[in-house]
Amino acid sequence: MSTFDLNSIIRENIKQLVPYSSARSEYGGSASIFLDANENSIASVLENGYNRYPDPLQKKLKRKISELKQVPIENIFLGNGSDEPIDLLIRATCVPGKDNILICPPTYGMYEVAAQINDVAIQKTVLTPDFQLDLGKILRQINDNTKLLFICSPNNPTGNLLNEKDITILVESFKGIVVIDEAYIDFAAEESWLQKLSNYPNLVILQTFSKAWGLAALRLGCAYSSAAIIEILNKIKAPYNISLLSQEAVLNTLSYEPVVKKWISLINEQRALLFDKLKQFSFIEKIFPSSANFILLRVNNANCLYEYLLQQNIVVRNRSSMPLCGNCLRITVGTSSENESLLNALKNYKP
Ligand SMILES: *Cc1c(COP(=O)(O)O)cnc(C)c1O
Repeated sequence: MSTFDLNSIIRENIKQLVPYSSARSEYGGSASIFLDANENSIASVLENGYNRYPDPLQKKLKRKISELKQVPIENIFLGNGSDEPIDLLIRATCVPGKDNILICPPTYGMYEVAAQINDVAIQKTVLTPDFQLDLGKILRQINDNTKLLFICSPNNPTGNLLNEKDITILVESFKGIVVIDEAYIDFAAEESWLQKLSNYPNLVILQTFSKAWGLAALRLGCAYSSAAIIEILNKIKAPYNISLLSQEAVLNTLSYEPVVKKWISLINEQRALLFDKLKQFSFIEKIFPSSANFILLRVNNANCLYEYLLQQNIVVRNRSSMPLCGNCLRITVGTSSENESLLNALKNYKP
């Protein structure tokens, strides 16, 4: 078991930072005349109180998410997409030009980009050929300046879950923070790591409303972690990072969880059907099993097939240039008619 010391992980300037104190964070009571935030006191054309700044800590929405996820409010951070907590975690822990993060390609591109924007070095340990964590190499590559380890499970673009045992070993031995990105966990048969959150002071779990919940346009991502880590994220975020429009919209959709569950099973049915039907094509060399709402394929010529599909008005993601993904396309599971169109297009493809 590692002895995790948050104090040694957080940058000195962040520890000493006196955060911006907004009007709404200084006074959150129920006074009737608000003359403290230089808002337009008359109205907004949108009515419904849009002339007022929103709750900086989104307490009402967090209470609902807390009930839904069975996670205490103090362990929840809400961001403008999960991209916001990814950036904030890097900024909170990594001294530019000195510290580094470790990622396991092929994986989600934003970890690397967020690090680069912050002038933070990136260590890469490529996954094993079966897309699992290369534990030995990761443990050898981690150094005293490695502050964050990003793990994506189910992984984008490969679609598979990473072995729970391997992740456990990393969380228990790494002195920095392990971030498990669960953007696609709703589509997986296995459980989220959320239930184990309280066992690990160095664990951050990312989830999002952009995928299964069908709210990509709203931009709402969640980070779950210890109260101490959440406090730091809250301290350095933009004061009003989630608009009232987003807070209210998500609040109003949470009661539709049964509908979302239905969509998830429909998407998973379509995924199984696609997986099966794609086997008929000889130019598809490998269909990788997926626990997400997309499937990675290895084909004989990815660029060629990509261009052909574009001509048929079907756009997929060409992932050929990523490590271990030579000649691979990533295809999002569509509606049944979209998937039928895809299969028809493939039937007419002359490789
Ligand atoms: C889509 C995706 C996200 C979601 O990002 P948002 O900013 O919440 O829309 C996060 N991580 C991974 C791996 C993704 O594929």
